[in-house]
Amino acid sequence: MLKKSGQKVRYAVVGLGHIAQVAVLPAFAHATRNSTLTALVSGNRTKLTELARRYRLQDVYSYDEYEDCLKSGKVDAVYIALPNNMHADYSIRAAQAGIHVLVEKPMAVTEKECLAMIRAAQRHRVKLMVAYRLHFEEANLKAVALIKSGKLGQPRFFTSAFSLQVRPGNIRTKANLGGGTLYDLGIYCINAARYLFQDEPREALAYSAARDDPRFKNIDEMTAAVLGFSGDRLATFTSSFGAADVSSYEVVGTKGSVRLDPAYEYAFPLKLHLTIDGKTRTQNFSKRDQFAPELLYFSDCILKNREPEPSGLEGLADVRTIEALYRSGRIGRSVKIRPVAIKKRPSLKQERRRPPVAKAVLVQAKSGSV
Ligand code: NDP
Repeated sequence: MLKKSGQKVRYAVVGLGHIAQVAVLPAFAHATRNSTLTALVSGNRTKLTELARRYRLQDVYSYDEYEDCLKSGKVDAVYIALPNNMHADYSIRAAQAGIHVLVEKPMAVTEKECLAMIRAAQRHRVKLMVAYRLHFEEANLKAVALIKSGKLGQPRFFTSAFSLQVRPGNIRTKANLGGGTLYDLGIYCINAARYLFQDEPREALAYSAARDDPRFKNIDEMTAAVLGFSGDRLATFTSSFGAADVSSYEVVGTKGSVRLDPAYEYAFPLKLHLTIDGKTRTQNFSKRDQFAPELLYFSDCILKNREPEPSGLEGLADVRTIEALYRSGRIGRSVKIRPVAIKKRPSLKQERRRPPVAKAVLVQAKSGSV
């Protein structure tokens, strides 16, 4: 049931891995206006005990007790921070219990799962949002606004690189958990190309490669992708789990270009470089909490009965593109993509600013990169 304006949305965080501990749990301190953390769900007793103590929580559940959590009457929404292959199941079960769903990216592993999640949210009248934190982040939204303003002329191509050295054994290296560079990193490039071009890709071409390294036994080490958009615009990017940290994109138009470097990070300040007529202006964006803005926005959607942007369709569009890219890599030729009808796209109106969170002491969790 939707809660009335003025009340706070009560969240359970499901899965207490790295992102939950460094970013999601601390973000509640910056979202007290309309959100409150009330419960934790985890398969690890030590994490439940220590994190419940740290965040002063009474209600903790194992995965076997997930339904009890959903039906406790003390939770209005879940934040799902589980491995990618568990997103659909845990989201659908929450929706079926009438609980709103904020799910980490990628929304799921397959298009079929995304469609089932969207249907479940509609049928049970709950809000469903995919946690695309950059839809609320100033540097990325400024890039959107600059392109929309026409300052760069006609945007013609997007190019991007997102790479890191993945930690051996991490969930990202396990195909059965929804691992692979496109699901983890490439998704940011696809999403950015879509919000910067304000359009959907029509065709996908990809080439995957992996050197002999146990980390890449079951997944791609890297994938290079080309996406064709309407108006003969192109987006190209490379996502890699076997190279130094790079996180950047550039959109080049007929009169100028905008480059973000870093572009996708939450742990560092971001930088925007605007070049017009050969003159470059740089703008710095200090490090901020990129997770509280998602909570604030999603809780407002719940309390005011508004459809979230990024919706389930946004998640579906990226997962459909990822599946097309991996298929293209397998069959060695381009694959057509049926565009998702996206009605609303991120704009500066969605920006929400909060200071960075304090460094969290981790309980049995490690970053995905080394
Ligand atoms: P971690 O591996 O650190 O955490 C995943 C957690 O899922 C585990 O700690 C565990 O929590 C739980 N889990 C349940 N079943 C399994 C299983 N079979 N194997 C491993 N873990 C399991 O991953 P991350 O926190 O880095 O990523 C989690 C999700 O968040 C992913 O979907 C990822 O794409 C997304 N993410 C988003 C980011 C963003 O910027 N928006 C950044 C990083 C990740 P427990 O011990 O509590 O049961």
